[in-house]
Amino acid sequence: MKLFKRKTPSEIDLESLNRLLDECRERVQVLKHVSGSLIFFLREFSMDIAEIETDDFKNRLDQIAENFQQDRTVYDLKGAFSDHKLFILNFIGRQKDHIREKEAELMNIIELLRNGMTAMIGDTRDFNAKIYDQNVRMEAITQLDDIRKIKESLITEVHQMKQIIQEKQASDSQRIESLSKEVTVLRSSLAQVKDASMVDAMTGAFNRMTFDARMQWLVQRSEIVWNPTSLMMCDLDNFKQINDTYGHITGDRVLKCFVQECKTMFRSDDFVARYGGEEFAILLPGINLRKSLKRARSFCKLLAAKQFLIDPSQPDARICFTVSIGVSELRKGDSGDAFIDRADKALYKAKQTGKSRAVSEKEV
Ligand code: GH3
Ligand code: MG
Ligand code: MG
Repeated sequence: MKLFKRKTPSEIDLESLNRLLDECRERVQVLKHVSGSLIFFLREFSMDIAEIETDDFKNRLDQIAENFQQDRTVYDLKGAFSDHKLFILNFIGRQKDHIREKEAELMNIIELLRNGMTAMIGDTRDFNAKIYDQNVRMEAITQLDDIRKIKESLITEVHQMKQIIQEKQASDSQRIESLSKEVTVLRSSLAQVKDASMVDAMTGAFNRMTFDARMQWLVQRSEIVWNPTSLMMCDLDNFKQINDTYGHITGDRVLKCFVQECKTMFRSDDFVARYGGEEFAILLPGINLRKSLKRARSFCKLLAAKQFLIDPSQPDARICFTVSIGVSELRKGDSGDAFIDRADKALYKAKQTGKSRAVSEKEV
């Protein structure tokens, strides 16, 4: 007796075919899932950059994914995929080119930074050494393959560079500050030296060189703008005798006292100079012969009436001295020498006529 009913050939085929169909359906589901995932990965892998039209590419991927999810005919699927194949390849090419370009740009930036740093090299050895180290590190960055590492290294290096530059700026401004202080000191020393070179160290009156320059300037100026100017040539009387009696140191003190008296007696505009030895020249701008003669006479009288304390430790030891003065006035078309010569002749006359007096050029 038979336990099971024998199946007909058609029944067997149908059963195995159903199993096969189930298997196929399952496989289709898996493939749909895999293709959907791959398309998702591709979407994620693409860089969001407008230049290479990533949005377009993503839309295209969405369309492909949709085609695979829908139950399209094999013919339709094949057709749709072959339409998109070229587009996908082109996008991948564009993305690779873009990355290469960006890398090249970064290399250029690094090169620029290196060149900039080299150009910035200052004069301090320390700064040079730091910049050299920085250059070495930049060199190392150019050898990095990974764009992310390049970026990270660049950020670090740029930060360090900023620090180096800030340090350099701080040291530069310190240097500038100390240099400008030095310049101020030098300027004032120069002014002191210049002032010193203009005066006679012992008496404090202007020296002969300054007198000559002043005389030349006054003569030239008078050719352009006329202004009466007088000259007093002064010579201390019997000065040799003062030296002989009291000694040279006392003689020197007398010269200083004379200049002191001139400064008290004459205006700040008047120019008192030591012409040589115990001779002094006083230029009086804006003063004519008559007025200057009057002043010279008063000065002679004032000096003659005074007793000078020469040594503070000996208050009782006071001495008297006198001066003779020749006075001239600048004439139109005059030379400095002629102006001086007339005053000199008047001075000579003052000496000859008894000393301690002022004589005008008109009396010669
Ligand atoms: P006079 O009244 O005719 O001008 O006679 P004097 O004695 O003043 O003239 P003299 O030319 O005979 O003598 C001038 C003296 O002045 C001679 C010189 O040694 C002295 N003498 C010149 N320069 C200085 C100086 O800087 N210090 C001192 N102590 N004496 C000086
Ligand atoms: Mg003399
Ligand atoms: Mg004299």
